[in-house]
This record gives sequence, structure tokens and C-alpha cells, in this order.
Amino acid sequence: MSVDVSNIKISPVSKSKIDTVDFDQIPFGRVFTDHIFQAQYKNGQWGDMEISPLEHFSLHPSNLALHYGQSIFEGMKASADKNGTPLLFRPEEHARRLNRSARRMCMPEFPEELFMEALTELVTLDRNWIPDRPGSALYIRPLMFATDEFLGVAPSETYTFVIMLLPVGPYYSKPVKLWADTEFVRAVAGGTGEAKTAGNYAASLLPSKMAKDRGCDQVLWLDGKERKYVQEVGTMNIFFVFEDHIATPELDGAILAGVTRNAFLTLLRAKGYDVQTRKITINEVMEKGQNGQLKEVFGSGTAAVATIVEEVRYKDEVIKFDPEAAEVGPMLKQTIEDIRHGRQEDLHDWVMRVE
Ligand SMILES: *Cc1c(COP(=O)(O)O)cnc(C)c1O
Repeated sequence: MSVDVSNIKISPVSKSKIDTVDFDQIPFGRVFTDHIFQAQYKNGQWGDMEISPLEHFSLHPSNLALHYGQSIFEGMKASADKNGTPLLFRPEEHARRLNRSARRMCMPEFPEELFMEALTELVTLDRNWIPDRPGSALYIRPLMFATDEFLGVAPSETYTFVIMLLPVGPYYSKPVKLWADTEFVRAVAGGTGEAKTAGNYAASLLPSKMAKDRGCDQVLWLDGKERKYVQEVGTMNIFFVFEDHIATPELDGAILAGVTRNAFLTLLRAKGYDVQTRKITINEVMEKGQNGQLKEVFGSGTAAVATIVEEVRYKDEVIKFDPEAAEVGPMLKQTIEDIRHGRQEDLHDWVMRVE
């Protein structure tokens, strides 16, 4: 595949809308920066790359992504050091995962070097939008979707790839209650659970709503075959702090391989914890939660970094955790935030400075 490198046309806005935003109260996912990166795929290659003012798309009603779901995305963050230099957290990992999702969904890959170039140009242009409040960040949302205008279940021959940026405040910071669902499943091995693709999230909406109706915040997904093994939560992977070790479910072909999950595993190992990736049954969780051998549960994901779990419900059983007593989750969150803002040494080479 030939690639048109270093050919991004930049058309800045004539007037930024940054002054209309209250950075102390940013509703998550609703405030966008001035610009968007766009690239078009046709005739087997990416081209028409530009950074321009964010505007609405115009789509034909037969747009293939709308009908058959060929759509993938990523979620990552930028922060700034004390001099205002933008810092990206593990951008290559996100570029690689985007391309793994693309392969699974029969979509073209977006070359990693082009991804990095587009990202750095865009973040540089909108760098004033990186919030400096604690816990705040610039959320980065790359998205690729099919654009063929044709009603047929077949891979599209044309695609649009965009990157949009959203300033966000502290997210999901309150402890959550989880509903271990025995009826619905998120994904099965062989399905699309490993891909960050639109349909996975559509499929989760009804079970999530039902969990909320039962007084929980999110679904704790169990495996699709036996409803026995714990998989993950909404847009987070999950960690269990047992008495003598820490565990997270092993990647089983259905679980999304979180970049934060991977960072947590690395940090915990570097700090000398016994960390295991293994099969974890919901019965083990409930039993050890009851008898005190399970000390703490938390989720990992880009948006909230670590989210403390205060309750897990499974059938008629409930286990509860005192959020104030959580140690490992908050420690990991603090470590990642410190590395991300340049306050702690980046021993694992995770942060990319955008000069
Ligand atoms: C994005 C996502 C995660 C977390 O991945 P990170 O790379 O850590 O943000 C976990 N599970 C699902 C289903 C996700 O979509």
C-alpha cells in the first residue's frame, strides 16, 4: 500500500471558541476543540489529509457504517507538563490497537507513522485546549468508519478516518457498584470483543440500563460460554486485590486489551507485587469477597485511569468494599497521573513529548 506521507493540509479556524468553555465544569464528551483531522481512503490508499475546523459530516442514507457497523475507534489522552508542552500517553499502543481493530473488522490499517504525525499536528494546533486542572486532560478520539454508499453486506471500499479532541474534567471518579450479569454477554472468543468497534457498545446498552434500574452503575461481564469467568466492565478492565496477590482476567479473545491494564501490570510488577493474569471465576470473587480474602476491586481504563469498585452483585449475593480503604487502585491512578504530567520519572518510556 502506498502512502501519501507528510501531506496534511492545515486550515485553522479564524476565531477559536475556547473562550466559550468553562474549564471548571466540562461535561464529558460534549465539548470539542476547534479542529479535526480527516483522511479519506479510496483506491487502496489514504489521502486528502487535512486539519480543518470541526464541522458536521454529510452522509448518504445508505452509508455502510450506519447499516452494518464497520466502525472502529480509540480513546487516549494528552496532558501538559508545567511548561505547557503536550504529553501523549503511549500513543503508539493506541495506533497499533486501532490497526488490530481494523484487521478484525476488515478495514484498512492507518499507518502508524501517519497516525503519529496527524496526532502531533492536531494536538499542537489545539494545545491551548489541554486543561491544567488536576485530573483533567485532553481526550483524543480517533474514529474510522466505512463510507461506501451501497446496501450490501460487504467490506466498504472507501473509509474516513478522523481524530477529534475533547477537553475533559475528572471522569468516573466516584466508586461504582457492579452488576455481574448472568443473562446478557458482551463478547465471546471468536467474536469482536477484542476490537474497539461500535457494535460492542451498542450491544451493552440494554444490559447496562437494566443494571442501572437495579441500582448498580455498570455491568461486570461474565464469559459468553459458561457465565462463569469474569471478563471486564463497560470500558474498563478489572483488577482484584487478593490477600496475597493481585489478579486480572487473562486476555481470552473476548476481552479488550486495555493500554491502562498493561500499564498497571507493568507498574505492579516493577513495585514487586505478585500479579497474575489468569482465569477468575465469579464464584471465587464472591466467596473471597465474603470471607475477607478479597481486599479491593478496581477498574482500569484511559478515561478514569482507576475506578474503585464499592460493590459487586451476583444473583442474590452482594459483596461490599469500603472505598476509603482502597490502596492499590488509588496508588496506580496517582502514579499514572504523575507520569502523565511529567511529575514522576517515566521509567517505561510511556510519554511522548510533542515539541
Ligand atoms: C477502551 C476499553 C477498555 C480500556 O482500554 P484502555 O486502553 O485502558 O483505555 C477496556 N474495555 C473496553 C471494552 C474498552 O472499550
